[in-house]
Amino acid sequence: VSGVYEISYWVEAQAWMRPDKVALVGSRELWTYRDLHDRVVRLSRAFRNRLGLEPGGRIAIYSGNCLEYLLVLLAASRAGLVLVPLNWRLTPGELEYQLRDSGTRRILCSAEYAAAAAELTGRIGLEPPVRITPAAEPDSLPDLAGLLDAEPSGLEPPGERDPQPWDRPLLICYTSGTTGRPKGAVLNSVNMFFNAINNLLTIDLRADDVCITLLPLFHIGGINLFTLPALFAGGRVVVPDRFDPDQAVRLIQEEKVTVVFGVPTVHQRLLEAIDRLKPDLSHVRMFYSGGAPCPVPLIRAFQERGYRFGQGYGLTETAPTVFMLLEDDFARKPGSIGRPAPFNRVRVIDPATGQPVPPGGVGEITVRGPNVFTAYWQNEKATAEAIRNGWFHTGDLARIDEEGFVTIAGRLKEMIISGGENIYPVEVEQAIQTHPAVVEAAVFGVPHPEWGEVPHAAVLLEPGASVTEEELRAHCLARLGKYKIPRRFFILDELPRNAAGKVVKSRLAEITRDM
Ligand code: ATP
Repeated sequence: VSGVYEISYWVEAQAWMRPDKVALVGSRELWTYRDLHDRVVRLSRAFRNRLGLEPGGRIAIYSGNCLEYLLVLLAASRAGLVLVPLNWRLTPGELEYQLRDSGTRRILCSAEYAAAAAELTGRIGLEPPVRITPAAEPDSLPDLAGLLDAEPSGLEPPGERDPQPWDRPLLICYTSGTTGRPKGAVLNSVNMFFNAINNLLTIDLRADDVCITLLPLFHIGGINLFTLPALFAGGRVVVPDRFDPDQAVRLIQEEKVTVVFGVPTVHQRLLEAIDRLKPDLSHVRMFYSGGAPCPVPLIRAFQERGYRFGQGYGLTETAPTVFMLLEDDFARKPGSIGRPAPFNRVRVIDPATGQPVPPGGVGEITVRGPNVFTAYWQNEKATAEAIRNGWFHTGDLARIDEEGFVTIAGRLKEMIISGGENIYPVEVEQAIQTHPAVVEAAVFGVPHPEWGEVPHAAVLLEPGASVTEEELRAHCLARLGKYKIPRRFFILDELPRNAAGKVVKSRLAEITRDM
């Protein structure tokens, strides 16, 4: 039974049900479920037969988005390997840390990163990397096409291969490090399976859905929102090489995409492109945001243009979906992340007492369920800090309303305590963002001799807009208690962000210190 959880089995099952249905649309090729399954089987055999990789072995992938990325993921799973997706925005030193920490044996890379990957393998003393996309100039690297050619084609009947233990690690995802040194969250097949089920049940993914992968595939959001769940459902996934807003909008229109997932910055840029290009996107069932707090005016802007727009919430450690706002509640509860997805349990607790907070209160989100990771890779200390009595402590603060709908208030570590009062940055940011000149705000605490800490705000303006600190202060005073009003407002040209597009608040104090 355990074999059916495994992600390559999802594709295998679809390849028997719908062999000729298109599964993946890339910039160079288009693969049906039969094509995909056939390649997965051949590559998984080649991993063992040609590269000598044994179950449990770690391989890393260093590549932009492409169909081959998903092929490597699925084949690694089938071969019992553990995949380490590398963030191509990291420095060689940061990548070396992850490769050594995970004990990676081989790097698979796209042509674009072949030179950088070869450098890394040289430094660490690994076999040369395997190139997964065609090279512009001939090189001496072993490549994916060669591995596939070396193995015979042919669909295996379902269930022929050895069953695998359900809790075998599949992915080591290093969390992007907005709060410290990266830790490798280990996800297994069951985590992936229940994330798919949670998404199917909340957004009603079906075989006639078309999704588009706009987030990088090295991020769990790129893999699982909604790329793999869409394949689970027998749908189609469009995988552009990179995020270009105009191209994304054109693809959404041409490929008749039905569900669009992105982080708030992706949606902000899609909105600008939609206004520029004025496409007919009537086939889009919904836009979903997650990964960072979404400004309510941005949600409203989509809704005013006739689009259904909702939010979800999750983390790498939960594969990732924990909360989903259902379509019926989009208009009524903008800004809320909804209620927990069916297959996980959530308690919002007072961090001091561990007791659930009453409606209206703010507490930390804790989660347990089959989608929740079991450990950080070889890091018992971090694991024991994160998972206590079976509950994963997310470090995120949330407010629950009378109906059980949840709104994110910020991260526990970023909560500002000013004169003994708690200030939740997201609440202040949402208030600033209702000012028409403001695109985005990030509120952070700075030390203060009298109050302990006071809030400051970094603000991004609409192109060509201008606003004074005084105006912003007055705008906030009309909406928030006095102690929550930022002492300073800094207008910046850009906010420091990590690879997932999230603001790295720990850098804001330093950036604005001399302003
Ligand atoms: P770290 O590396 O410090 O663990 P991260 O942001 O890199 O942080 P991810 O797993 O990429 O970790 O993202 C999970 C985090 O994203 C959550 O802990 C939460 O703070 C934030 N987040 C996700 N969805 C939402 C949402 N809808 N609204 C607000 N914040 C969200």
